[in-house]
Amino acid sequence: MSPLLPTRRSIYKTPAQLRAMIEPGLITAAALDAVRALIAPGVTTLELDAAASAVITGRGAKSNFQMVRGYRHTICASVNEQVVHGIPSARGLEPGDIVSIDAGAEFEGWNGDSAFTAVVPDASRPALVAEREELSRVTEGSLWAGIAALATARHLGEVSAAVQDHIDGAGHGYGILREYVGHGIGRKMHESPSVFNYRVPDPGAQVRPGLAVAIEPMVVIGDQATFVEDDEWTVSTVDGTAGSHWEHSVAVHDGGIWVLTAPDGGAAGLAPFGVIPREIGEET
Ligand code: MG
Ligand code: MG
Repeated sequence: MSPLLPTRRSIYKTPAQLRAMIEPGLITAAALDAVRALIAPGVTTLELDAAASAVITGRGAKSNFQMVRGYRHTICASVNEQVVHGIPSARGLEPGDIVSIDAGAEFEGWNGDSAFTAVVPDASRPALVAEREELSRVTEGSLWAGIAALATARHLGEVSAAVQDHIDGAGHGYGILREYVGHGIGRKMHESPSVFNYRVPDPGAQVRPGLAVAIEPMVVIGDQATFVEDDEWTVSTVDGTAGSHWEHSVAVHDGGIWVLTAPDGGAAGLAPFGVIPREIGEET
């Protein structure tokens, strides 16, 4: 006798549903562009939050972070030893700070989710800036390595392996957060399946047309151990070393892959891997 398994909705989307995710992806990208342009010494993360909010609401979308129970902001802004889920505050950014910004938009019932890291210039501490820029560069590279792997992967585990291999291959001994992972995305910001940033024994979900996932490596200079601050949101490293977080929402379709949260579909980021993104066509 076989066990009775609960039925669940397919994680795979139709081409029309994937196309509906293009606009929220582009709105998410525009919100992050607005934030990126403002990052400088003295700017508060609350000001960055307001800039992202203005873009998202101005384009007729909603902040999906504000739909997370108990969270009132449009972005997460994680500074220095904070890796993810930092709450915007009235504290100004300082020279040499490394800050990761995460945001998402919901438009007509579909979601985008993306993140980037920036280092605030500091001419007086070139070694610190270089160390943090290298962390961000490797983390972003691991994101693109994962996205490139998605173009040919049969299972999501190959994406996870590509992310880890890129980080390990940099040779810095960086830690990869284990307790926080990427996810499916669609009608909800967070859906099945999980997208690990490290090798796991399970091959993971099948990669085939209709899959839409947010890939989001979270990488730290030191040990991967983290804790949640007293604000009940902010995830910080136990050893106090700096973190970086990069993320894109990506669709797999009949013609290939398309990075929904990049205006060029990921062309620039994927070029070093020899992968060319393809627009989501009209096939049904
Ligand atoms: Mg995110
Ligand atoms: Mg995410």
